[in-house]
Amino acid sequence: MRKVMKFGGTSVGEPHRMKQVAQLVNDGDENIVVLSALSGTTNALVELTELLHAKNIEVFKRKLGYLKKHFELFILELFQEESDQKDALGLVETHLKSISAFGEDMFTQHEERTILAQGELISTALFKLYCDSQNLPCKLLPALDFMRTTNDGEPDDYFIWVNLDRLIKENDGSKIFVTQGYICRNAFGEIDNLKRGGSDYSASLIGAAIGVDEIQIWTDIDGMHNNDPRVVSNTRPINELSYNEAAELAYFGAKILHPSSVRPAQEKGIPVRLKNTMDPEASGTLISDKSNQDQIKAVAAKDGITAIKIRSGRMLMAYGFLRSVFEVFEWYKTPIDMITTSEVAVSLTIDETQHLSSITEDLKKYGQVEVDHNLTIVCIVGDFIADNSGFAYRITKALEHIPLRMVSYGGSKNNVSVLIKNSDKKKALLALNEGLFDWEEGHD
Ligand code: ADP
Ligand code: ASP
Ligand code: MG
Repeated sequence: MRKVMKFGGTSVGEPHRMKQVAQLVNDGDENIVVLSALSGTTNALVELTELLHAKNIEVFKRKLGYLKKHFELFILELFQEESDQKDALGLVETHLKSISAFGEDMFTQHEERTILAQGELISTALFKLYCDSQNLPCKLLPALDFMRTTNDGEPDDYFIWVNLDRLIKENDGSKIFVTQGYICRNAFGEIDNLKRGGSDYSASLIGAAIGVDEIQIWTDIDGMHNNDPRVVSNTRPINELSYNEAAELAYFGAKILHPSSVRPAQEKGIPVRLKNTMDPEASGTLISDKSNQDQIKAVAAKDGITAIKIRSGRMLMAYGFLRSVFEVFEWYKTPIDMITTSEVAVSLTIDETQHLSSITEDLKKYGQVEVDHNLTIVCIVGDFIADNSGFAYRITKALEHIPLRMVSYGGSKNNVSVLIKNSDKKKALLALNEGLFDWEEGHD
């Protein structure tokens, strides 16, 4: 069997966890191990870049010092032999030195992305050294040699496949490969990344490129839960999800998966298994093309949503109106998440507000524009067949005390979305837990 095994920040964030990962990947299969940065590292690197932008060099140097100390303590616990410790300390020193040089003069976007890449470069280098120290054969596949995006920021599938295949063939006979998640090169060959949480996406792209049997995402929880465990306490893991259900949950806020990470696996029909590093025996969640029908599976929430309403007398019976509105968003490369229409108005939501003022300015050509901030989309996911009439009722009944700004039902058979004020989010997730899942327990 050939697998991709991706381990997130907490799975490698402590020395004993990294040791455990080395054991897990040595299971006799051919495994491509994708690692994130040690937990907290990417946040620390983001903070360093912000300090450089603000030209706050003194605090930058102090924080860089803390990060270095963190790695030193990690290394002293990970390695027993002094010579291994020395090698590892030297390696981290080299990476961090490249960062400190950036403090000197102009700070460019390219330098910023180079800093953000150091977390994964360090974690994989330490893991490789640890495997060497344990005589566990392991080959490093540098992600910057095969992971690449195109001009429009999408993965360059052909480049990834050709180069990954070549690198693996160069190491014919090896069973364990290790590579960096999250980092890539852009169309100009510069260091770039797949956005926060992007290691899941790396794992899926790698698995799809070389056609593995399974993609495993190892994290700190036993699979996809039926509600957000950061908000609701009595959530439970879901055994099986279809690709579409998992993609909806990931897109609408289930942090366990990067929003784009389902698509590459789905296109190649490769099963994705979510596993818990802290409890490897737990069955986790299997994502495949199978689905248990007629069930509400889970709820997720996406914050930071902005709603835009365009009110226009011209909309009445006018064809071409919606096209004109959509073209504005297309022009500013701003995706729309939800949309509802009435005879006189159209409401839609976005989560990227970079071009909001230009968008509203342009939309004013078509009618009166109102903008609302600090909203949350709550997305209820499952397999709702069209002729089953109970689902929408159960959802709106559960939310009867929460003002709903928009409701979207019927767009796909996997998703009902409601737009609410962010301040109502916790109440809504708790109400849905009680109304949808406790209800099932009591009545099924
Ligand atoms: P990693 O560092 O391994 O990539 P993440 O922090 O990105 O881990 O994702 C795992 C976290 O996702 C969990 O600890 C949990 O708090 C959060 N999470 C949010 N929604 C869900 C959900 N529906 N099911 C499981 N975990 C979720
Ligand atoms: N290290 C990156 C981040 O924290 C990527 C990842 O963990 O998936 O966002
Ligand atoms: Mg993650």
